[in-house]
Amino acid sequence: MENILRQKAKELLASGEVKVVIGYGWNRAKTRTTPVFITDAADTGQLVWNPLCVNNLSVYLTRKFKDIQALGKPAIVAKGCDIRNIAVLISEAQIKREDVYVIGMACQGVVYKQELWQGELKPNIMPTKCHNCDVRNPHLSDFVVGGKVDFTPPEEPAGMVFDKIRDLDSKSPSERWAFWVKEFSRCIKCYACRQVCSLCYCERCITEKNMPQWIETSAHPRGNLSWNLIRAMHLTGRCTFCGECERACPVNIPLNLVNQKMIMVVKDAFDFKSGYDEKVHPPMIVFSPDDKENFIK
Ligand code: SF4
Ligand code: SF4
Ligand code: SF4
Repeated sequence: MENILRQKAKELLASGEVKVVIGYGWNRAKTRTTPVFITDAADTGQLVWNPLCVNNLSVYLTRKFKDIQALGKPAIVAKGCDIRNIAVLISEAQIKREDVYVIGMACQGVVYKQELWQGELKPNIMPTKCHNCDVRNPHLSDFVVGGKVDFTPPEEPAGMVFDKIRDLDSKSPSERWAFWVKEFSRCIKCYACRQVCSLCYCERCITEKNMPQWIETSAHPRGNLSWNLIRAMHLTGRCTFCGECERACPVNIPLNLVNQKMIMVVKDAFDFKSGYDEKVHPPMIVFSPDDKENFIK
């Protein structure tokens, strides 16, 4: 697969169809993969593809990275789960479909954290999203690298995140509240969760607004709670459960639980899951005369 990927990237850069290829390369010690931005067809040998390619590179398509946008039309190496974020970005008019070349990677799964890798991809080192994945064969691609992957996700989503959600759902509201107050009290307001998320693309985040100041800026339990609840609300109906925010959180706050719970709520209420069709808008930003709430009428 790596050779086909490199060849395709070379063709795209040499023909001028794209100006930069956003993909994965090795770190110096070849122990981890790291994002690479290739602008010269002679450098495409740096591109790699393996189960350590865990980052969701779609964040580099957002206006958070104006220096990359300035390079010109990008091609992006993307797994199906990353393509879901690209689809949301297109549906929210952050990028035009024709302004990005998607190199879709057929995928057997990735590791949850790169440090778990010992040379073999086993189910116990894969994140919950991979066990329930319905996009191993990438959608919305201009070119697909790799043959068809034969995998059917379980009918009922399974894995630690879903077990923990069931466990939390069985508790009383006050117990659930206490659980989250405790978890969020550990937040150090580093904003890594925001920076790594391609769907958190506001140029001025609400946390940075100080006239009026909506959220306390210090890492105080009160401000932490507002910050984490607001971020969850802003991602509701949009989050694809790519898992990057939880992976980036230095204090291991279980953000996947919040995000997946909100995904389940939106699925129940609107029969909608984000990132499959770039022409469909998330339910929170559309008007529907059939809405069951009275206030809309
Ligand atoms: S969720 Fe699917 S596409 Fe994404 S890394 Fe896992 S198996 Fe691959
Ligand atoms: S899982 Fe986290 S990083 Fe990924 S889209 Fe959802 S909120 Fe953003
Ligand atoms: S990454 Fe974790 S610690 Fe940092 S702001 Fe987000 S939730 Fe808080």
